[in-house]
Amino acid sequence: MISEREAAKYPFLSEAARLVDMLDLTLDDLAEPVHAKVLDRAEGRVSEAILKGKASANLGDSLTELLSFPVANMFITALGERFLDRRYALSEAVRAYELLNDESEARVAKMARTEFQWDLRLVRELLDGRLYRFELHFNDFLGNAAAFREPKWKLVNRLMRDGYVLLTNPETTRLLQEEIRRRIGGLISKHRGLRLPEPLQARVDRLGRTFEENRSSITGGDLPTDVLVEGFPPCMRYAFEGLMAGRRAGHMERFALTSFLINAGMDIDEIVKLFVSVTDFDEQFTRYQIEHIAGLRGGRTRYTPPSCSTLRTHGVCHNPDSLCKRVKHPLSYYRIKIQDIRGKQEDKPAE
Ligand code: SF4
Repeated sequence: MISEREAAKYPFLSEAARLVDMLDLTLDDLAEPVHAKVLDRAEGRVSEAILKGKASANLGDSLTELLSFPVANMFITALGERFLDRRYALSEAVRAYELLNDESEARVAKMARTEFQWDLRLVRELLDGRLYRFELHFNDFLGNAAAFREPKWKLVNRLMRDGYVLLTNPETTRLLQEEIRRRIGGLISKHRGLRLPEPLQARVDRLGRTFEENRSSITGGDLPTDVLVEGFPPCMRYAFEGLMAGRRAGHMERFALTSFLINAGMDIDEIVKLFVSVTDFDEQFTRYQIEHIAGLRGGRTRYTPPSCSTLRTHGVCHNPDSLCKRVKHPLSYYRIKIQDIRGKQEDKPAE
C-alpha cells in the first residue's frame, strides 16, 4: 500500500483514492470543526487555481493535504464553471509535474506504467548533447503530445527507435502532466448544482465570488468594448465558447476564430491571453501564430475568416440561425448583428 506522504503528493493515484475511501468520511463529518484544516486547504487549492493557475504542495501535514484533494474536487463540481474545471485540473497537474521533477527516473516510470499503463522503458543515451532517459511507445507519446503545439512535440521531429520515442526526463514528466490533467478533469463530477452542507457551501460561495472578481483577468473574457460577443455568428460563438470550455478544436476552427477576433477588432494581446489562459499552449508560439494571421509577420497578409461555404465544408458551421440565410460570411453576420444591437440601444428611452 502507498504511504500517506506519497498519497498526499499524488492524490489522484488510485491507491491514494483507496486510502481516502478507507477513512469512510461523510459530508457531515467534513462539516465538523475538527476538519476545518482540511476545508481550509481544499479552499486554498481552488483559490490557487483561480488566482495563480498552479496549486502549491503543502506536505507538512500529509493527511490534510491528501483529504483536501477530493474536497477541492467537490468544491469545483459545486462551483459548476466549466472554465474553472479545466483551470483547476491544469493547476493540480502542474503541482504534480513539479513534484515529479524531483523524483527518480524509476519512480516516474513506475507511475507512468502502473497508473497510466504507458509502454515506457528506462534507457540512458547521450545523443547530440541530450541525455535521453526514457523511451515511450509512440501511441502513448501521441496520446499526450497531441495537445502540445510546439514543433518539438511533433512525431516527425522526434528520435525514434522500433516504434519508441526517446525522451529526456523533463519531457517525460511534461507528458505525464498532460495525462494527470486528464485524470483530474475526469474526477470532477459532471453533476452540477451540488448543494453542500454548511460550512462547506459557505466556502464554495466565497470561491465563487473570488472567481467572479477575477474572471476577466484570467479568462480574457472581458472583450474590448468594441467587440460584442452577443453579435458573434453561431459558428464563432460555438468556437469561442468551446475554447473557453477547453474543447480541443481543429485547425480550421482555430484559424477561423482567431482571424474573426482579429477582424472584429480584438486586441492581439487579448487574443493571446485568451488562448494561453484556457489551453496550455506555449505563449511565444501562440503569439507568433496570431501575429502571422494578423499580418504582422511573414508575408504581411492579414487573413479574414473563411466564407460560410468553406466553413460548412470543414464542419465549422454550427447552429446556423435565420440571419445566416442572408449572409455568406461570418463577418457580414457580425456587422449586421452589431448594427442591429446598436440600433436597439439607441432606440431605448433615456433613463
Ligand atoms: S452560416 Fe456562416 S455565419 Fe452562420 S453559422 Fe454557418 S458559417 Fe457561421
